Amino acid sequence: MSKQYRITLLPGDGIGPEIMSVTVAVLKQVGEQLGIKFEFQEALMGGAAIDATGNPLPDETLTACKNSDAVLLAAIGGYKWDNLPRHQRPETGLLGLRAGLGLFANLRPASILPQLIDASSLKREVVEGVDIMVVRELTGGIYFGQPKGIFETETGEKRGVNTMVYSESEIDRIGRVAFETARKRGGKLCSVDKANVLDVSQLWRDRITQLAAEYPDVELSHLYVDNAAMQLIRAPKQFDTIVTGNLFGDILSDAAAMLTGSIGMLPSASLGASGPGVFEPVHGSAPDIAGQDKANPLAQVLSAAMMMRYGLNEPEAATRMEQAVLKVLDAGYRTGDIMSAEMKLVGCQEMGDALLQALA
Ligand code: NAD
Repeated sequence: MSKQYRITLLPGDGIGPEIMSVTVAVLKQVGEQLGIKFEFQEALMGGAAIDATGNPLPDETLTACKNSDAVLLAAIGGYKWDNLPRHQRPETGLLGLRAGLGLFANLRPASILPQLIDASSLKREVVEGVDIMVVRELTGGIYFGQPKGIFETETGEKRGVNTMVYSESEIDRIGRVAFETARKRGGKLCSVDKANVLDVSQLWRDRITQLAAEYPDVELSHLYVDNAAMQLIRAPKQFDTIVTGNLFGDILSDAAAMLTGSIGMLPSASLGASGPGVFEPVHGSAPDIAGQDKANPLAQVLSAAMMMRYGLNEPEAATRMEQAVLKVLDAGYRTGDIMSAEMKLVGCQEMGDALLQALA
């Protein structure tokens, strides 16, 4: 009996539609091989949605996402929408999607592929063997805390305000995801905070420390965020799983991303307690190369593989997609962002064709 999944596709802006089209072709081919049927429905999000409706996350889009088995998002944003009021910006749509689907956990792997080790800007001996998972809290912290806004004081001077806030239950649920993740990996968890300065971080540290009693097989450590940033660049191999709040996770996961040499290679998964997850590349919409067939589609394809593994429980499909990615890299295919000497420079579309061949 063939299985069927309804997938909402959000191609978004910039290079989004280019990398999405490659990924859908890959999914279709894997689906045919394994007897998996996809019902794809495309919806508007980000700048494209602003242009069509004035809203970066139209109600129909959120409803379509809620009614699907998984959501595959490419990237949103671009110069054109940078100066709109905040509630109309593409990023506001992204925050709304995460909140609307209750996606409180963001998993970002950053592992060095042997084929791309020279793409890293760090020395080979520093990055060889790096395999990190950053677990970032996604629906709380300073990006959502109230009060927020730009307010006028009595003197007429403006004040910008954001509030960093975490409740015990928010810390516990992301903490549990992180401990469970570490348990399935190398058994080491590093919690990152700024407890020397921030009260909210002190509560974070206290709760994570208490939770550790439930996971005696996981080795817990703590780092202040400034030190964590330094250690990630100095000696990244010391890390296995990292757990941190929304703001610190946003920054550290990009730093971890760059260890691997290209942001164009990194997938992510955002999960809630139940319901569809959102699977998307770590990179943005790369407006500087949009529409030029230069985008690297591999992070999008690897995000779809995470969707198959973590969202739809189809590990065989995920493995086939991941192996196809390794195969095209072994065969020397490279987009501009990961290009090195003696490799074959290809565009987004040609990389897609190579993936289909590798799958066949
Ligand atoms: P970016 O990730 O879009 O681009 C950074 C650099 O990496 C650029 O030089 C770009 O060409 C390159 N790059 C990114 N992805 C690539 C790929 N797949 N293949 C080849 N090269 C790639 O980040 P940015 O320039 O800071 O942001 C551009 C826009 O994207 C902004 O509007 C930003 O708000 C938005 N953004 C969206 C998301 C998202 O959708 N989740 C995430 C980050 C940024």
